[in-house]
Amino acid sequence: MQQIARSVARTFNNLPRPHRVMLGSLTVLTLAVAVWRPYVYHPNSVPLVKVIEPEKLESRSLLPEASEPIDQTTPEEDESLNLPQDELDDKTTGADGIHEYVVSTGDTLSSVLNQYGIDMSDISLLAQSDKELRNLKIGQQISWTLNADGELQQMVWEMSRRETRTYDRSGNGFKMSSETQQGDWVNSVLKGTVGGSFVASARSAGLTSNEVSSVIKAMQWQMDFRKLKKGDEFSVLMSREMLNGKREQSQLVGVRIRSGGKDYYAIRAEDGKFYDKSGSGLAKGFMRFPTVKQFRISSNFNPRRVNPVTGRVAPHKGVDFAMPQGTPVLAVGDGEVVTATRSGAAGYYIAIRHGRSYTTRYMHLKKLLVKPGQKVKRGERIALSGNTGRSTGPHLHYEVWINQQAVNPLTARLPRSEGLMGDDRRSYLAQVKEVVPQLRFD
Ligand SMILES: [Zn+2]
Repeated sequence: MQQIARSVARTFNNLPRPHRVMLGSLTVLTLAVAVWRPYVYHPNSVPLVKVIEPEKLESRSLLPEASEPIDQTTPEEDESLNLPQDELDDKTTGADGIHEYVVSTGDTLSSVLNQYGIDMSDISLLAQSDKELRNLKIGQQISWTLNADGELQQMVWEMSRRETRTYDRSGNGFKMSSETQQGDWVNSVLKGTVGGSFVASARSAGLTSNEVSSVIKAMQWQMDFRKLKKGDEFSVLMSREMLNGKREQSQLVGVRIRSGGKDYYAIRAEDGKFYDKSGSGLAKGFMRFPTVKQFRISSNFNPRRVNPVTGRVAPHKGVDFAMPQGTPVLAVGDGEVVTATRSGAAGYYIAIRHGRSYTTRYMHLKKLLVKPGQKVKRGERIALSGNTGRSTGPHLHYEVWINQQAVNPLTARLPRSEGLMGDDRRSYLAQVKEVVPQLRFD
């Protein structure tokens, strides 16, 4: 060893000066690295966070009731999760020994309670007492107290302003009790005049967007809101549940719209549906077939039909009924004629809009009996069947569209006929008597 050292020293001394400097500094550097390395990889010098993290994750995944993570949230809510552990502790323990916690992104019952040292077996007993505890939502508050032994004594879950659930230790588990606060239902009449769009005017009259939608839905069989004119008036009776000065939910009771000097009403019955002033159903229901009698189907609805000649997909968007020319064609439901014209392949054809989402189309007609813009009633004659346009024989091609999508007219869910009878009708008419006078414009 000494010999090696001496020969190294001799060789070193024989080197020219620049080489000696270079070799010397390399040696110093090597030694520095050698001393530094063991420090870096020494287990005791690993930052504390790295030791804690895997354990925490492990305990989470072992939980029996580990629920799905809670929905995404705003960045501010995320921050609380990144706070160091001790900072959370300071925030959650009140002077009276009540721990409080606001649910944040990714929290589960067990991840929250476990990080405050609550026993896993208690957490699982708690979860057994109420399965809904799996669905903690961001922003809800949970608070708990411990007994003298440091065990969980009681937990309170504030689900919403309306409902609070309490879990008390009892026997070998926890007993859940629930308290719901009923708000006051307050009726408000909101009225206005159509300026730009109905939606904008209704919003500025104080309706929420949900309330506006419920008005449009209730009225859809009577009017097309896009056709309301400047100066048309509306009056809406909403029942709103107020709790601690805040609106919890609301329900449309009745609406009146005056358009072109005519009044239209939709009033809610006990079944939750809307009827006109006389109790007739507003969605009058559709007939399954656009003719008095049912004719043979010569071609079915087929969205993937392949043209045998071209080989291309040429969907058959309706049903063909073979029928003699001149057969009366009927509107299947109340609506408004949007098209009544002659057009290439379809020949003479008619399209009718029913409410907001339904359209029906009738093609290859011989004679049109209605005009665009005309209102038609269910069962009304609109045309005589024919063989016009691209048609290989006398037939009626009939289509039903729901929300801009062609559906099978023979199987589609169509509005059913509704109307109130007997006691239902009597109590409805009593309701009408109360509601209608409130729907004023002045
Ligand atoms: Zn067809």
